[in-house]
Amino acid sequence: MTTSNSAADVAVNAPPPESRPSNFLRDIMAEDVSSNRYGKAPIQTRFPPEPNGYLHIGHAKAICIDFGLADDFCGKTNLRFDDTNPEKEETEYVESIQEDVRWLGFDWERLCYASDYFDQLYEWALKLIRDGKAYVCDLTAEQVREYRGTLTEPGKNSPYRNRAIAENLDLFQRMKAGEFPDGARTLRAKIDMASPNLNMRDPVMYRILRAEHHRTGNKWCIYATYDWAHGQSDSIENVTHSMCSLEFADHQPLYNWFIEQLGIFPSRQIEFDRLAITYTLLSKRKLLRLVNEKRVAGWTDPRMPTLSGMRRRGYTPEAIRNFVAAVGVSRTNGIVELAMLEHFLREDLNKRAPRVMAVLKPLKVVIDNYPKGQVEEAEAVNNPEDASAGTRKVPFSRELYIEQDDFREVPPKGYYRLSPGREVRLRYGYFITCNSVVKNDAGEVVEVHCAYDPATKGGNAPDGRKVKSTIHWVSASHAIDAEVRIYENLFSKEDPNDAAAGQDFIANLNPHSLEVIANAKLEPSLAKAAPGSRYQFERLGYFCVDPDSQLGKLVFNRTVALKDTWAKVEKKHGGR
Ligand code: ATP
Ligand code: MG
Repeated sequence: MTTSNSAADVAVNAPPPESRPSNFLRDIMAEDVSSNRYGKAPIQTRFPPEPNGYLHIGHAKAICIDFGLADDFCGKTNLRFDDTNPEKEETEYVESIQEDVRWLGFDWERLCYASDYFDQLYEWALKLIRDGKAYVCDLTAEQVREYRGTLTEPGKNSPYRNRAIAENLDLFQRMKAGEFPDGARTLRAKIDMASPNLNMRDPVMYRILRAEHHRTGNKWCIYATYDWAHGQSDSIENVTHSMCSLEFADHQPLYNWFIEQLGIFPSRQIEFDRLAITYTLLSKRKLLRLVNEKRVAGWTDPRMPTLSGMRRRGYTPEAIRNFVAAVGVSRTNGIVELAMLEHFLREDLNKRAPRVMAVLKPLKVVIDNYPKGQVEEAEAVNNPEDASAGTRKVPFSRELYIEQDDFREVPPKGYYRLSPGREVRLRYGYFITCNSVVKNDAGEVVEVHCAYDPATKGGNAPDGRKVKSTIHWVSASHAIDAEVRIYENLFSKEDPNDAAAGQDFIANLNPHSLEVIANAKLEPSLAKAAPGSRYQFERLGYFCVDPDSQLGKLVFNRTVALKDTWAKVEKKHGGR
């Protein structure tokens, strides 16, 4: 399957930069460039989503491969919608997919649709019929399955396999003209019913289906199958390397067969491993079920592994790209730890997220010896990882909120935060010592009374005495209220598909995947935080402003907590 190259042909494709780690896909491409497999044709790839759902992080891997590898060779990438299943496809999906690809940081050379090629595909189908390589079959879908045989038994020829060419041409044209009911006939390639590869046993090329298509409306009542549309679409676009996930490996002989019979541009399919992540489902069909059954608040729910859900949760495109690059490509499927994805998320947010102070579960602290009505401004560092981010002023006053977790009336062993008689540091503030508490009727501590040491302003004692902990706080009278949504894994099982007999992945949904905190207290600098902006709430984690926010009624999503289990695991194994 090579194009005819003359010795004078010079590949226009640049070799890949040496600095990038190699992988087998890039090696194949480099080889094809150096052997002039495609002559002067530039490297061309495509990302071919079916618009039957929102993109998920598995697609991010394919996108990074398709766009990234083309880029390495100064090639081009098309975004092509594989829209051959009108019943499942919608314009909403077409739009969200474009937004997500752009957000991830890629731009396509051309925006294409398999439906752009319906006329051409039809013409090519006629050619295969004329060449005696396709026939109209009247078996029902169920009969087609029966005749196909199994992995261990050959199939049986369809009784319609030897129809005369003229009859096939007539019937196929009448299929297109709408003369037969849905499902009554199919067009099938005439290959080999005894092939060890089931895909080669006279695969269906067209089925009759009266369904309105999101682009072609009711023009067609026959629709091409994936196998008939995909390779030919690649070829029309002069795609040199058609990368796809491993489940298509068995389809490759068929991909090649169609292209060879038609004698068209010899696109080359290469398969790589499908991304799978623990505690995560990566299947549009199953994600659609979560949406339809209202198990989540739509495709963009921050618990969803969709790119739009992850964006809303606070993921950065850089974190996703770095993760995908670290995962790499392989020829066998594996499973990646969710902790690894979160590690790359934290690593990126640590660099870019401004630090702020926020109290999720507030406990009032009154500093009895601090002058009533006095307000000081603590100078707080915006990002210790980025000096250019500067500092900001945070108001400090007599009444503060601290985290309920940062106080214990009876401290357990090893607990060094605030407790009666204990001195701690208030971040950017003073040392305070707890003297007494106020309790409600239920016996719960509702207010903690403390004394501060004015000499410790800024957080250090002139006499050099030490405290064992530093806690964050928000000035009570300056605090702004916010709703904070705390997310945990959507599924409680590492493999969400591992369900008991008679159950499915729905049974593995984590009932505690969302906790809503209605009255968190934030430092006032956040009053105008715009939807989509990301912060580190000191000591708590990374948070992102949700689009549900309104001025005066902020909503934050917890992107990820600070604890980095992955870094620990790596350290243990002597990695990075
Ligand atoms: P789903 O099962 O979620 O619907 P799909 O493979 O049917 O996925 P498509 O829209 O057909 O989704 O896929 C577009 C491209 O993305 C294909 O090339 C496919 O191989 C790739 N892709 C989809 N899921 C993954 C994944 N988890 N890992 C890597 N590539 C993927
Ligand atoms: Mg699919």
